[in-house]
Amino acid sequence: MTVSLINGKRKYIFCGDEASLEVLQPIIYEVKKKELPFEIVPLDSSTLQNLLSSQKMGTFLYIAAPWKLKREIEKMAWSIGYSEEEMISVGIGPKPMNVFCCRCHGITEKINLIVDEEITCSHCELQLVVSDHYSSLRDAHLGYVAKL
Ligand SMILES: [Zn+2]
Repeated sequence: MTVSLINGKRKYIFCGDEASLEVLQPIIYEVKKKELPFEIVPLDSSTLQNLLSSQKMGTFLYIAAPWKLKREIEKMAWSIGYSEEEMISVGIGPKPMNVFCCRCHGITEKINLIVDEEITCSHCELQLVVSDHYSSLRDAHLGYVAKL
């Protein structure tokens, strides 16, 4: 995934740890070169929430984090009032995927799953086929009963 600089913002905030910020390095470089106001915030910062909520309108957010953490930060930013147009986030490393069991409604999490793959529900042990039907409410793909 290529991330680019969104021009014309009041300020740029980069959330990430040392490893994940590598992805954002070209943008940070560009921002520095253009002498735009920016701030780098570590992911483990407990002050992240305070920092994000104290920003003025027009602040743009770049997030680079392992998938799970990325989602948490996105949710936090949304709850503060950032819209999807005010942030770009990049998931780092293997992507976990949730599968919703059609029988017991339990969620099974697996790394790097693909659609049509068969998995076993970690709750009721039913064989499930991962469908491309994604529910953003549950943040999970629907798992159908696998044919024997
Ligand atoms: Zn189940």
